[in-house]
Amino acid sequence: MNNKAAQLAAQHYEKTLDAADVSRIDFFMNLWAALDDADAAGETAAGYEVPPVERVAALSEAEIPVFTNTPVAIDAAALSRGMNAVIARAAELGGFDEEMTAALTSAKWNEIVAASDIALAGKNPAEYLAAFAEQLVADGMTEVQAQMGQLFASLVLRWQLEGPAEAVARARKKAKVFFDHQMHCPACGGDAALARVGEGGSGDGRNKSLWCPQCGTSWEFDRIRCPRCGTRNQGHLHYYNIEGDEGHRIATCDECGSYIRTRFAGEGDNAPYSPEVEDVVMARLDAVAMDPSFAGGTAERTGE
Ligand SMILES: [Zn+2]
Ligand SMILES: [Zn+2]
Repeated sequence: MNNKAAQLAAQHYEKTLDAADVSRIDFFMNLWAALDDADAAGETAAGYEVPPVERVAALSEAEIPVFTNTPVAIDAAALSRGMNAVIARAAELGGFDEEMTAALTSAKWNEIVAASDIALAGKNPAEYLAAFAEQLVADGMTEVQAQMGQLFASLVLRWQLEGPAEAVARARKKAKVFFDHQMHCPACGGDAALARVGEGGSGDGRNKSLWCPQCGTSWEFDRIRCPRCGTRNQGHLHYYNIEGDEGHRIATCDECGSYIRTRFAGEGDNAPYSPEVEDVVMARLDAVAMDPSFAGGTAERTGE
């Protein structure tokens, strides 16, 4: 990931966010640093051969994730090394209660990773991680502990997937691929965690892009379309913001009942942007969106 951008964004938010948000960003910055220190990326990216440009374009058009077609060879040693490093750092920072700490730090990640279907991790990360969590429960963890283990595994896997994902993005750029309706990540097939509306896309003016937290890919998407169900019915798509914060919005869809957190960069807004930091900052929007009273309360409906 782009550490420089994350640092700039974190510095920017230090001045505007409350102490709890600032310390949450700090916590994640620490975890990311631990993964860099442990060389969780390994040599995976160097060994990845992205398919030819025309093939990448054809896969994108058919909405087949490139990794499904040409998997990444995941380095099991780097994955377990990353798990040990990131969990040790999180425990050091006091991120969990005692029971969670005991469950996660005593787990034998080398053995757990060795027993997992590592080939699937580079082909369909979401499916791999679901199976990973099931395995943790079968090994004796509670559901909540297994979910936490799965979150860490997802973060650690990201370190190996992002290099190959960047190669895919370069190939898509070369092929001038622009299909504005891809609801899943064109590289790994993951779901978008957030959207960004602002300047800086392939066309003129303002564009929307989606971001996949699993491999770090951003891709352009239709401005007026639900990224979960694909509807283009503008009357069913709304934006809400919280307490007048126009920059962070919840985009909802009446048709499928889903939402996506959206960073709105206003005109001339050149605040540093890091999707990873936004993901942490906008975690609080999830709490609002899940609240049964949402759509009234403190949320304001806005235009666009
Ligand atoms: Zn992805
Ligand atoms: Zn929808």
